[in-house]
Amino acid sequence: MIVNIVGGGASGIIAAINAAKNGHEVNIFEKMKNIGKKILATGNGKCNYTNKKMDETFFYCKNKELIKNSLQIFDDKSTISFFKSIGVYPREIDGRIYPITENSLSIVKSLENELNRLNIKIYTKTKIFKIDILKNKFILNDKYESDILIIAAGGKSYPALGSDGSINSELIKLGHTFKTQRPALVQLISNDYFLPQLKGVRVKGNASLFDHKNIKIIEKNGEILFTDYGLSGIPSMQISRFIKPEKNYIIKIDLAQNIDKDEINNYLINQTRLNPNLKISDSLMGIIHFKLINIILQINNIHNIPLNQLKRSDRNKIINSIKNFNININGTKGWKESQVTTGGINLNEINEINFESKKIKNLYICGEILDIDGDCGGYNLQWAWTSGYIVGNNIMRRDKNDTN
Ligand SMILES: Cc1cc2nc3c(=O)[nH]c(=O)nc-3n(C[C@H](O)[C@H](O)[C@H](O)COP(=O)(O)OP(=O)(O)OC[C@H]3O[C@@H](n4cnc5c(N)ncnc54)[C@H](O)[C@@H]3O)c2cc1C
Repeated sequence: MIVNIVGGGASGIIAAINAAKNGHEVNIFEKMKNIGKKILATGNGKCNYTNKKMDETFFYCKNKELIKNSLQIFDDKSTISFFKSIGVYPREIDGRIYPITENSLSIVKSLENELNRLNIKIYTKTKIFKIDILKNKFILNDKYESDILIIAAGGKSYPALGSDGSINSELIKLGHTFKTQRPALVQLISNDYFLPQLKGVRVKGNASLFDHKNIKIIEKNGEILFTDYGLSGIPSMQISRFIKPEKNYIIKIDLAQNIDKDEINNYLINQTRLNPNLKISDSLMGIIHFKLINIILQINNIHNIPLNQLKRSDRNKIINSIKNFNININGTKGWKESQVTTGGINLNEINEINFESKKIKNLYICGEILDIDGDCGGYNLQWAWTSGYIVGNNIMRRDKNDTN
């Protein structure tokens, strides 16, 4: 069978390799100059290609069973051993798996070697803008014909690396629907006046997202980075998938994660007795970053007075701000900087076993274009490998009950 694949990213490449191993004649169509451009940029150029902590809880998707079942077929261990089989040895850092070279080029080059070995034809600089179906054949751009079509065109995130949603309208024409796509794993924007003063400050702590009704949406832990435009760092990026446009949110950060309110209170009372002339800012230097102390005093309208002049109510305000530092969130940095897309092709439109479209026979869909996204840490690439493997390996295999 001739199998044409739209998209030469992680999921398309793995689908191609497995389809070719199953004896199909495979062509990849990629709009960029080279395949795997996004893979090269992953993990800050090191490519965090999977994670040893792997189960469905690291993924966002309405159908967790689908993730669970898919990981049973191709999980982190399968990924590591596949890459080993093409010459990429792993290095583990806190559960995250990188190539031992810590260079994403190792991944892309080894994948290219495998594509060449399997005689897979790659059409680069070939944007697919039209899909037709004629007499059970798929025809791309009025030119390229196949029996099977795999869509692996990614989401809309980081369009400079290729994926821009340009194939979506063709899929809609074929009867598919999309759950609204939004940028995720992206930095958060805040208009709070004090942020430029906090630029570069890092805090290991808890960040919780609240909506305008003060209802908590999600909490994430890790290193939060203050920037002049808002917040970055893994917890902020992970929170971004819950931010909807035109809505306002607050992030509350616990700036002193392992020290509770009573302990800070007792410490300050003690310091007041031992060192009454010590300035508030100096007394807190061992608990939080000095730039944060200045901002906490500013937002609570408290002068940097000696401890023995600090009123009890002001002491409480300072402690509250340390444990619940509020940042107003006005949006995210958007598609241009986002690492993954939440939303995508509705999962109830694909066969859960082989990811064939329920709308169009012999059309298969894999990767980020589906309504599945994962946490930071190798989960999004794992989804691309898992779904690409399943598609490539299951072409034309149907259950007896399948009426498609
Ligand atoms: C900066 C950055 C860092 C990241 N780091 C990590 C990480 O360390 N670990 C991790 O797990 N995940 C990471 N991700 C996410 C991960 O890279 C993606 O989730 C994954 O690559 C998705 O694979 P995919 O094959 O579905 O889509 P993509 O990799 O986006 O590939 C889709 C391909 O289809 C092509 N295409 C699109 N439309 C057309 C068309 N009409 N015609 C022809 N070709 C088309 C695109 O050019 C692209 O090459 C990162 C993402 C970014 C942007």
